[in-house]
Amino acid sequence: MASKSLLKLPAITFGLLASLQNAYGAVLESRGLRDNVEQVSWPSPRCQLTGPIYPEDDGLPSAEDVFDGPLAFKKQLDRHRDIVEVDSICYDDLGPIGEDKRWDSFDELQKVLKRLYPIMHDDGYVQFEKVNTYGLVYTIQGQSEELSPILLTAHQDVVPVGNESDWTYPPFSAEYDEKTDWMWSRGTADDKNRLTALMSVFEELLTSDWRPQRDFVIALGFDEECSGFRGAKNINDMLIEKYGKDGFEAVIDEGGLGIIDLDFGRDPPVRYALPAVTEKGFVNIWLDLQVKGGHSSTPTPHTGIGIMSQIVVALENNPYYPEVEWNSPIHKSLQCLARYSPNAFPSITHLVDHGNLYKVAEVIASMDLSAAALVQTTQAVDIIYGGDKINSLPEFTTVGINYRVAPQNSVLEIQHNVVKHINRIVENFGLNVNAYEDDDEYHHYAASLGGDHHHKKPRRDIDYEGTLTIRAEKKFDGAPVSPTDDEVWQIFAGTIEATFKEPGITVVPTGVIMTGNTDSKHYLDLSRNIYRWNPHPAFDIKNIHAVDEGLKMSAHIGVAKFYYNLVRNFDQAGRFLLKSSQQQQEL
Ligand SMILES: [Zn+2]
Repeated sequence: MASKSLLKLPAITFGLLASLQNAYGAVLESRGLRDNVEQVSWPSPRCQLTGPIYPEDDGLPSAEDVFDGPLAFKKQLDRHRDIVEVDSICYDDLGPIGEDKRWDSFDELQKVLKRLYPIMHDDGYVQFEKVNTYGLVYTIQGQSEELSPILLTAHQDVVPVGNESDWTYPPFSAEYDEKTDWMWSRGTADDKNRLTALMSVFEELLTSDWRPQRDFVIALGFDEECSGFRGAKNINDMLIEKYGKDGFEAVIDEGGLGIIDLDFGRDPPVRYALPAVTEKGFVNIWLDLQVKGGHSSTPTPHTGIGIMSQIVVALENNPYYPEVEWNSPIHKSLQCLARYSPNAFPSITHLVDHGNLYKVAEVIASMDLSAAALVQTTQAVDIIYGGDKINSLPEFTTVGINYRVAPQNSVLEIQHNVVKHINRIVENFGLNVNAYEDDDEYHHYAASLGGDHHHKKPRRDIDYEGTLTIRAEKKFDGAPVSPTDDEVWQIFAGTIEATFKEPGITVVPTGVIMTGNTDSKHYLDLSRNIYRWNPHPAFDIKNIHAVDEGLKMSAHIGVAKFYYNLVRNFDQAGRFLLKSSQQQQEL
């Protein structure tokens, strides 16, 4: 169960703020200093808030009118339960659509959506399209041609459940515990929480005879947990065709770090809303080593496994360094923290106010692993294969390494460093190296740096006849940083402030970086303004991708209210959000 006490956060935290809270609380607790915090207040002029933006003048009932109260709650609970009960699992080894029977759950989910949301499936109100069979795209046509559309996305698929017997309740039972307000099931949080909320919001709006000014498009992918190449990728191609590059004013997707309340020290309570405005890059690097074999009674001094082990050690001895770039999302978040919670972590406040980002990065990296991952490129040697018989020397050895690339590094730099860091081992064993064959982008990059890392200089009597092949797969250079200073952001942030406001609590929306990727990586060409955010308290969901996934239904109601306000605010913001003049000319 979630603990209300902020000093008892779980060891694995949700990111920087949680880490700060954790570290700070623990230190004070152990020293008995909680009531003796030195008051600090350095000037932090940054982090201007937009102020709350409330929808008005559209004659619609308020979010509270629509989603608060026992009847509305029951309706929402029933909707969510029906959607969660469908076991729409994305398995990594799913065969073609139409052939593999495991896709049938997605047919079932479509039926459930049609039954729950009749107006969303009435072509008098909504244009409904299927993309690659299971991708669902709903378009609510706006009345003005001048205004560019808004895209709201969610994914229908969930991850597999693992061992069913480990679950407290059956994994697709959508068990709701009235006493604690938690619903337990696979997908109740990721991402059906948002899916149910989005579909419900538009069903309710259309029930109220709402006719938007601009187009709203709701796109539901179906293989986000398997990288989105069948769902979001095809949906993107369809939307690009229809609306063009950067054709959307905004894309609203899952992700980010939720909402985290900071309430200790001498500062007034602050509610940080942490949507992701960028994503780290990604690359898998594979090293395949082939050496001559033989009988293990007369071995070479090192085997393929031994050589590969030295390679792994060399790479792990060269980790990436933490860095906070000037005006990066993390720098801006820290400025918000320094301004609104100066006493929460005085040393960080001091460093941020003095612009000592070098030291700030070090402090963050030393907090815990999830905080460190926000400021540095991570390297994880995840796969090793080699050897098949105890009396034969291993001829083939393979290692797979996963990198999550921080903004201060590039995928090409990572590729190049792998070659550089293992160069001495390559020379010692006289290995032939085929690095990134057919990767022209890499070879241009390496040539621009000068030097030659391809060697064959056996310096020993023993010729291992070794060849090392290096490949880079699934290269993704990180997402561009979405604006946090334009009108689109202001409407988004202002809606956050309005929806999650409580008396005496300041709501501070600030953009963060995501260490993982979502379907939005396929939508990067659709808009400059991509905001990935699960709009609820970070600790009101549990065990994403694990046994006993859970969601607090009160959080779900908050999600629905937020989207209800956001859609209305975006719709009324027409006067700010005209299509760019270039797009106008193309019309
Ligand atoms: Zn998800």
